[in-house]
Amino acid sequence: MAGIRLDKVTKRWGDFVGVDTFSLDIPDAEFLVLLGPSGCGKTTTMRMIAGLETPTTGDLYIGDQRVNDLEPKDRDIAMVFQSYGLYPNMTVYENIRFPLKVRKVDPATHNDRVMQASAMVELDDFLHRRPAELSGGQRQRVALARAIVRKPTVFLMDEPLSNLDAKLRVSTRAQIKNLHSQLNTTTIYVTHDQIEAMTLADRVVVMNKGLVQQVGTPTDIYDTPANTFVAGFIGSPAMNLMEGKLEGGVFNGENVTIKGLTKKYSGPVTLGFRAEDAEIASKKAQIGSKVYSMELLGEATMVTMKAGGALVAVKAGKEYRSKIGDAISASVPPSICHLFDKSTGERIA
Ligand code: ATP
Repeated sequence: MAGIRLDKVTKRWGDFVGVDTFSLDIPDAEFLVLLGPSGCGKTTTMRMIAGLETPTTGDLYIGDQRVNDLEPKDRDIAMVFQSYGLYPNMTVYENIRFPLKVRKVDPATHNDRVMQASAMVELDDFLHRRPAELSGGQRQRVALARAIVRKPTVFLMDEPLSNLDAKLRVSTRAQIKNLHSQLNTTTIYVTHDQIEAMTLADRVVVMNKGLVQQVGTPTDIYDTPANTFVAGFIGSPAMNLMEGKLEGGVFNGENVTIKGLTKKYSGPVTLGFRAEDAEIASKKAQIGSKVYSMELLGEATMVTMKAGGALVAVKAGKEYRSKIGDAISASVPPSICHLFDKSTGERIA
């Protein structure tokens, strides 16, 4: 078991900065998720931890050891990728045993270890099959078992669920979470899917353009986003964001007036609130607009209205119905509104 420490880790290619001064302590046994849009530097960060890329500057530690110059094979890390990377000519059993052979682990222990790892991912009945005879979900479980069998100090997982269909993604996600609770191995997991991040992580690192935007528990980043990027990235739908001016505790934007906000700050701001925190209202309406779209979710109805330039989603009751173009108004309690500096995007309150 081991923690990981990144100290101002930076990766440059020429003038382009892929990962910018990334510093973080990842304690032993943590499940850390790197989350962000395509190209934000998630995979590069993980490849540096694996030893497949060398940081341009900064230091990387696994446990107490500085590993910048350590070969990947000497890092005691097991990786699981989106493409399963199985050997097509080997059976499931042989695929799972392969890392033990390569590492010259005592052959007398192989069978027990393969059986234990395959049981953990419920592959006991498929050990004689070859990868071509398996479904995508089963192949990904072989890849997981092959990582587990080594008992490494760290797991690195790069979008391991993205080749699976929606239903399998949910069940394999639960299996990964369950495995982590059994094995307690430090895990770094890369995804651009915020639901995966929220459901799996002890802590989430939100990245954009090579820079860490926020590190926190899923609740932290959902309830207290550090800036408009995180606010606009987390949540489904993402937080509603509207531009306007704050003065004397009153926010004024196009089609919106919200009173009772902080009086400590005045100036141009971006105001944010979540769809589930607002309600369709005729009295005390703060946002007046027209229905732009309506989606039936089963347990609720998501109504989107257009207020000024912004689309604003409000979660209404499951019985709520209206037509596109109908007049509509909504209210939002000032106490749950988020305020961000309009020019920097940083959180104010
Ligand atoms: P995705 O979700 O699409 O995999 P990512 O967040 O994992 O994205 P990275 O693969 O880490 O992103 O890439 C970060 C940035 O670094 C990208 O803009 C990418 O084009 C760039 N990059 C990655 N590898 C190289 C390389 N070998 N040479 C130059 N630029 C690179």
